[in-house]
Amino acid sequence: MRYTRAFFPTLREDPAEAKKTPSHRLLLRAGYIRQVGAGIYEFLPLGLRVLRKVESIVREEMDRAGAQEVSLPALLPADLFKETGRWDLFGSTLFRLHDQKKNDYHLGPTHEEVITDLVRSVVKSYRQLPINLYQIQWKYRDEARPRAGLLRCREFLMKDAYSFDADEAGALKSYAAMREAYKAVFRRVGLDYRIVSADSGAMGGSTSAEFQILAETGEDAIVVCSNCDYAANVEAAVARRSETSASAPSGQRHKMVATPDKKTIEEVAAFLKVETRATVKAGAFMFGKGPGDAGALALTFVRGDRRVNEVALARELGANWVRMAEDHELEKAGVVAGYVGPFELPASVSVVLVDGEIAGAQDMVIGANKAGHHVTHASMVVALEKLGARGKACDIRAVGAGDLCASCGAALQEFKGIEGGHIFVLGTHYTKKMNVTFLDEKGTENLIVMGCYGIGVSRLVASAVEQRHDGDGIVWPMSIAPYHVIVTPLAADGPMMEAAEKLYHSLVAMGVEAILDDRDERPGVKFKDADLLGIPLRVTVGKKSLEQGKLELKARNAKDAELIELETAAEQIAARVKAAIAG
Ligand SMILES: [Zn+2]
Repeated sequence: MRYTRAFFPTLREDPAEAKKTPSHRLLLRAGYIRQVGAGIYEFLPLGLRVLRKVESIVREEMDRAGAQEVSLPALLPADLFKETGRWDLFGSTLFRLHDQKKNDYHLGPTHEEVITDLVRSVVKSYRQLPINLYQIQWKYRDEARPRAGLLRCREFLMKDAYSFDADEAGALKSYAAMREAYKAVFRRVGLDYRIVSADSGAMGGSTSAEFQILAETGEDAIVVCSNCDYAANVEAAVARRSETSASAPSGQRHKMVATPDKKTIEEVAAFLKVETRATVKAGAFMFGKGPGDAGALALTFVRGDRRVNEVALARELGANWVRMAEDHELEKAGVVAGYVGPFELPASVSVVLVDGEIAGAQDMVIGANKAGHHVTHASMVVALEKLGARGKACDIRAVGAGDLCASCGAALQEFKGIEGGHIFVLGTHYTKKMNVTFLDEKGTENLIVMGCYGIGVSRLVASAVEQRHDGDGIVWPMSIAPYHVIVTPLAADGPMMEAAEKLYHSLVAMGVEAILDDRDERPGVKFKDADLLGIPLRVTVGKKSLEQGKLELKARNAKDAELIELETAAEQIAARVKAAIAG
């Protein structure tokens, strides 16, 4: 591609609407995408090249895993969604429309029903199973708040695959094959990711997992082991149980102090001039078993800088539901909201859980159960003794950085993640609803067992930029860069331009995707644009080096340039590109 002929509409300034998310800002600024409406984007030539490369990698790995590509329509009659009840369940995120005969239609947000209907009409016998069908298709969801460019939009490109097996064991095998294919995709796209169990956080035997791409702008909070493969969503994360050995008493007496109008941990800590970790945060929850239960009150105490993990809390309480208690529910129990503490609790409070991390702490600031007052130098050991059967020390805090891995004991770290892929075994959820059966070897009718597997293809493009950019622009990995090399002569005519032309044509002949920057611009402008675009390799043809029969080669992610022989430049560059793509 000759730069003078290229449609690369870069922007001089950062677009005002895209300050927060690097990928949004850089993809707009470097001319990869343009917004047409809220959450709707055009892919310009550079953007489409990247999208197509991610698509190709996904397609290759799906094909390698034995899946077969189909193309299902984006425009769908409502009947199938009505059959499974999702016509109503999807609510306002479904784009609904009518044809001229006033029939209901929608745009596909996902395709379980359509593909299941296809398989229902074809598969009759166990001999036709297993099958794994996939497509790479635009999806539509009417997000209330589309934002962050390609990370959350209303039209986006997805790869969705669906496996159909004769039994659970077969479905688990299909799931395992997809897990491996996804690992290959994420590695080849050049992403730093973790496989996060979405259900329990327990290791092994899982039937659902998210491929989380680590990025500061991610919406999901995940906990990752610094040593082993353990990774989980913060809500589901577990850690090694706390030691509850007592710390030494401060020697100062437990004392009630006035803290007028100081209710939050931050206010109290600032007022008493202690760190938040020297305070205890109280929580009040209602919990119960059945949905109709009135529920009972449980008080929780965790270190001031921690928060309660409601999943862990429900587990400790043996409850099917927990929710924060309302102020009036606390009042009814005789507890003073904002000043809740473990001492002098009315008999109406029968469940008090103290987080294991502070169960042995001897010198804490805690609510006094008296409006406008806290207790200083409080001992949680004494508090638990006094509570007797009402009190229990157990792990109820949200796991975070510094906790220890339950599997290997190494330190856990906290990250933000972007969900780039999701795999799970659906079981017979859809095949039951849609009556999709096959005859087994004995002639018995059985339900087909399904799995489904998604990758956000357009989201992966943005995620790669989230992970790989600097102050000057994008830093593409070779595997998905729109072009591999940009050839930059420092003059638009004469010997430098001639050498650049020659190199450009040799590279193209060798299958290297190259841009020739033939613009009559200052070197500084050319270098700035090459960096903004993020092309992995830049070859500079300058007067001095050319006279010595050399060219300057600089990798986008390297600090310095190196000199290479003009004579063998094309071969060297082609070999480097090939090696980088192979990873
Ligand atoms: Zn570990």
